[in-house]
Amino acid sequence: MGSTLEDDTLKKKTEDQYLSDVVVIGSGNAGLSAAATAAEKGAYVIILEKRKNIGGNTIISGGVYNAVDPKRQQYQNIFDSKELHFGQTLKGGDFKGDQELVWILVDRALEGLQWLEKNGMKFQEHVFTIVGGIWPRSHQPIEPAGTGYIKTLKRLCFSLGVRILTGYRAEKLLYRKGRVMGVRCRDLQGKEFLFWAKKGVILATGGFSANVQMRSRYNPLLNDIIPTTNQPGATGDGILMGMEIGAAVTGMEYIQLNPYCEPKTGRLQTILTGAVEHLIYVNNEGNRFVDEGERRDVIADAFLRQKNATAYLINDSQDEFVQKGITHFGKTPEELIKKGHVIKGDTLEELANKIRVPFENLIRSIEKYNKSVELGYDSDFGRTLLKYKIERPPFYACPRVPAVHYTMGGLKINTKAQVLDGKGKPISGLFAAGEVVGGIHGANRLGGNAITETIVFGRIAGESVVRGLD
Ligand SMILES: Cc1cc2nc3c(=O)[nH]c(=O)nc-3n(C[C@H](O)[C@H](O)[C@H](O)COP(=O)(O)OP(=O)(O)OC[C@H]3O[C@@H](n4cnc5c(N)ncnc54)[C@H](O)[C@@H]3O)c2cc1C
Repeated sequence: MGSTLEDDTLKKKTEDQYLSDVVVIGSGNAGLSAAATAAEKGAYVIILEKRKNIGGNTIISGGVYNAVDPKRQQYQNIFDSKELHFGQTLKGGDFKGDQELVWILVDRALEGLQWLEKNGMKFQEHVFTIVGGIWPRSHQPIEPAGTGYIKTLKRLCFSLGVRILTGYRAEKLLYRKGRVMGVRCRDLQGKEFLFWAKKGVILATGGFSANVQMRSRYNPLLNDIIPTTNQPGATGDGILMGMEIGAAVTGMEYIQLNPYCEPKTGRLQTILTGAVEHLIYVNNEGNRFVDEGERRDVIADAFLRQKNATAYLINDSQDEFVQKGITHFGKTPEELIKKGHVIKGDTLEELANKIRVPFENLIRSIEKYNKSVELGYDSDFGRTLLKYKIERPPFYACPRVPAVHYTMGGLKINTKAQVLDGKGKPISGLFAAGEVVGGIHGANRLGGNAITETIVFGRIAGESVVRGLD
């Protein structure tokens, strides 16, 4: 996919050395939006992607994008403001996030969404609350999972002359006389190449959830027994390359274990619903055990306290994804049921029998929850997102366990997406955006804020590199 080195429009220095204004490493949302933005401003940009296909975690993600969006939210009578999004993001991360970066995230979120829309991407009109998102400001793309972003940005990149080289793993930053001048990389056959970048290099290599050694260095509990929802390329390469030349890192110990994955397959994509409004969790005893609208770290901890760390997501046929007949990962409920990822019961008794939880407990949990919806008050767990009862058959159950999902830590950047050294000074010629960066989400990320971050800071990195910031 993309260009090859045979492309004779590539600017060669020698047989194995290439020239550009900007080299972007990684082809997820952050890399593609940074590259497109730099190219929009006239730069000649090359993207290096180590895998055979572009898209990284972005393409397999749920694609949910948080933004305060007066037009859509007013239509649903939802109060919201940038200040609220800012406060919830900071509080959700235990006030460990960098306030300036968090403000930029929320302030430029809608602008980023509208930039995507202007370039042809389509989102649903209806917003909802993604798991751990805390507030109904989650936007769902029309196309399944994260495919809409990658299609849109790839098309934009190609129209702007960005070269995308797949199968090239960046290994080392070329750091000369206090400035990053390019990157050394290797193709799939092991051949080495140098890519020189006149204006700078942008690291957009994603997080390190799939690097067991690296994640267990920061949290020894996260060994290879714990599955991950990530693609295998999420190995923290950009963080390591940055550290090698003196870049500072922050928040490396904050690793998110929610949303959960399927116990058998380790996959997140087999989930039936992502809308907190419509679901409750019950354990193997058929009992609720947490406020389902809580932060992701709280939910993950609560799961870990259940037997085998397993619980079921329970919802009914009123759920918006069931109603639409398609999940946000582009699967139909029928397909998920047929393959055994989701269990369906025409009655609660049938469902309880199928998932082997005590029927009387399941009924009691749901009746009590429905009463809480009526009263607008959950005396058991203090849930405030009480919108829909679980009452309309058929009913569904989806088994889940915690999984390593997102790494909050990464390279330290400033508001211009410049990578900082240990003294807080920008490293000349080096920029970073997306999950490779730390310090925005603090100790816990709100669901739906990561995709927003990739677009907002990807664009900032693209703007800054062209402006020639040092
Ligand atoms: C299953 C799943 C669902 C998710 N759903 C959501 C959601 O709905 N909403 C939300 O906000 N967040 C979600 N997230 C998190 C979000 O998707 C990611 O944080 C985000 O996509 C990261 O984007 P990125 O561009 O920073 O990195 P990525 O999209 O991961 O892209 C990084 C790319 O860099 C490449 N790369 C790495 N190292 C090198 C190297 N040395 N040389 C060359 N290339 C390299 C990788 O192969 C990869 O293609 C989800 C994550 C997962 C795993």
